[in-house]
Amino acid sequence: MDLTRRSFVKSIGLAFGTSMAYGLATQSSTLAFADDLDWRLVNTEEFTNICCYCSGGCGTIVSVQDNELINLEGDSDHPINQGGLCAKGASMFQLRNVITEETREVIHNPNRKTHPLVRRPGASEWEQLSWDQAILEIARHVKETRDATFVEQDENGVTVNRTEAIASLGGSQQNCEEDYLILKTMRSLGVVALDNQARV
Ligand code: SF4
Repeated sequence: MDLTRRSFVKSIGLAFGTSMAYGLATQSSTLAFADDLDWRLVNTEEFTNICCYCSGGCGTIVSVQDNELINLEGDSDHPINQGGLCAKGASMFQLRNVITEETREVIHNPNRKTHPLVRRPGASEWEQLSWDQAILEIARHVKETRDATFVEQDENGVTVNRTEAIASLGGSQQNCEEDYLILKTMRSLGVVALDNQARV
């Protein structure tokens, strides 16, 4: 194609105009997107947390708006999972909130337990307890079991001071310091069967 000076200037002008228009369009859509993000995150607080399901201890970011959970996702700054979550971790949001099938509304999970429950020996129903009552009853069971099974010396006459009738298994969200305190408490009772799921 023969390019005269005039057609050259025209084509440059056209290209410049097109790229300006494209640039403005891109810029305005970026700005609109940024605006959307700003609005979406108004009054939103973010907290870091740890997945409650396994000893992997994947990190999560929990977003809260007006005291309500609105989002939960993998923490990309966390050294273990680097933003990823397995299927269990990714469904953790549903421990608190679920979406109704009919209206697609977000509601509190009706199956979430928020009080201690006990099923007495021989009973078929669960009974709700206050936290104070639950702690009292657990303490009473621990005391009775320990008293009934405590061994001061083993069959060879070696002092052991232990009970093999109680075991302690910690959860997945405890940190080193909490595990240390659990271990000290259990050891002081003579419990030797101890493990903690947490590897955090
Ligand atoms: S996200 Fe999955 S792998 Fe990570 S801690 Fe939770 S259950 Fe374990």
